[in-house]
Formats: sequence, C-alpha cells, structure tokens
Amino acid sequence: MSTISSTLQQREIKPKEKIVTYTVLACINNDYEERREFIPGDYVGKIVRDKRCPKDNSELRIKAIYAEKQQIK
Ligand SMILES: [Zn+2]
Repeated sequence: MSTISSTLQQREIKPKEKIVTYTVLACINNDYEERREFIPGDYVGKIVRDKRCPKDNSELRIKAIYAEKQQIK
C-alpha cells in the first residue's frame, strides 16, 4: 500500500477594499439630490459651480460628505 499525499493549498481570498468618499449634492430648492465622488475642496454648504439642478436649473449645494467601503473585484 502506498500513500499518496496530495497537497491542498487553500488560499484565502481576501476581498480588496477601498474607501471611496462621496459628496452629496442637493438642489437649494430641495427637489433634487445626487452624489458624486469627492473632489478636494468640497465642503458641506459649498455651492458647486460645475453642475446645476436638472429640474429647475438652480444651484446645487453640498449637503453631506461621507465615506463608503467598496470592494474591488
Ligand atoms: Zn432644483
């Protein structure tokens, strides 16, 4: 009787994560909200210059900034 030993390599796959910071933009008339990735210089209360509300063309103000974990596939 011979013993066959098989080597099982179990690799633990660690999900790679990254932290993504988002900026929430809200219309000053509160009828629209969207989020985009944080751009350096963003702060809560700032009026963004590069976008306008698609509903009434009003200014968008930064409502919140938050970070979220995202998995990299
Ligand atoms: Zn609006």
